Amino acid sequence: MEMTRIYLDHAATTSVRPEVLEAMWPFFQANYGNASSVHSEGSVAREALDRAREMVAQVLHCRKGEIVFTGGGTEADNLAVFGVARARRNHGRHIITSQIEHEAILESCRQLEGEGFDVTYLNPDSDGRIDPACVAAALRPDTILVSIMLANNEIGTTQQVREIATLARTHGAVMHTDAVQAAGLMDLDVEALGVDLLSLSAHKCYGPKGVGVLYEHRGRPLSPLIHGGGQERGRRSGTENVPGVAGMAVALALAERDRVSEVPRLIALRDRLIDGLLARVDGIYVTGHRTARLPGHASFRLDGVVGEAVLVNLDLAGVACSSGSACHAGSTDPSHVLIAIGLTAESAKTGLRFTLGRENTGDDVDHVLDVLPKIISELRTGAVATV
Ligand code: PLP
Repeated sequence: MEMTRIYLDHAATTSVRPEVLEAMWPFFQANYGNASSVHSEGSVAREALDRAREMVAQVLHCRKGEIVFTGGGTEADNLAVFGVARARRNHGRHIITSQIEHEAILESCRQLEGEGFDVTYLNPDSDGRIDPACVAAALRPDTILVSIMLANNEIGTTQQVREIATLARTHGAVMHTDAVQAAGLMDLDVEALGVDLLSLSAHKCYGPKGVGVLYEHRGRPLSPLIHGGGQERGRRSGTENVPGVAGMAVALALAERDRVSEVPRLIALRDRLIDGLLARVDGIYVTGHRTARLPGHASFRLDGVVGEAVLVNLDLAGVACSSGSACHAGSTDPSHVLIAIGLTAESAKTGLRFTLGRENTGDDVDHVLDVLPKIISELRTGAVATV
């Protein structure tokens, strides 16, 4: 008999909702037209893109013309960083970001350093929070861009983006936030957040992989990354991924609709998991902020046990979790986020992350509370295999 699996890795990716698949299906077959074609097949595809743009704009409280569809969250982040840097290089060459951003931001910034830009990587506190006062202190006359994520994928900590955005914009810098982990879990109203640019990815909110969005405040200059036929108002050339975009719009709209009920439900499950593990396991500590964190996000570090070993043994027990971010899977490097919040390289390898989602119930949490203490104690005594 096949074991029932419990999936607790929603920060890595999520399943595609049936309603989303339903919305995508027609654009693979019956309505496969190219949105740039003049004929009827083309206009059906174009109308679908337009509807999707409208739906995303409603969630973000922005205009349709401020939405750029991309090939995912990484591309949206790259477009934001390179797009602003290249469009504003004559205004200045200084960028502010944090040490705990996703690699999509960090690697883009490192690349720009090689092109003559100067990047300040702000240090978070031990909970993973960026103090707006540190942003204020780092701003310079030549600062063109501030990029601080809304919520961290590894430790779940959320940031005071509104306060940081006010500082950045008052100073004349463009404000970007990576909101990839926040879809369906936090308010994405770009007016309330006060941001100029915001990145999203469909596969983190029950949509398809390889589709994302960059919100771009109208009138801000942005250079394209991908050149070609001029689609997406010249911001992102290439034949539009109509099924993907249609699916993303439905996924985002449904995630936003369910947010009011899902957030308190996920917070209750998360706290049951955190409190339960703290009570049952010695030498386990929460990483990230205890309350300013994503609703379904529970992350820990452990005394004396490598996270990867716990992950493998939990997997054998039917539970999928993560020992860091998905991008670190298979890598033995300690997480840059855990190092940035002050952990030693050794301690950073003991990270363990559970991210709950819409299919999870209290029974799933109770199962982890049942099996995990035993796995950890067996690993500590050497009774089961480490990796
Ligand atoms: N930004 C954050 C915070 C993420 O967690 C991820 C994905 O793990 C990305 C960006 C990249 O998104 P995508 O997987 O759509 O390229």
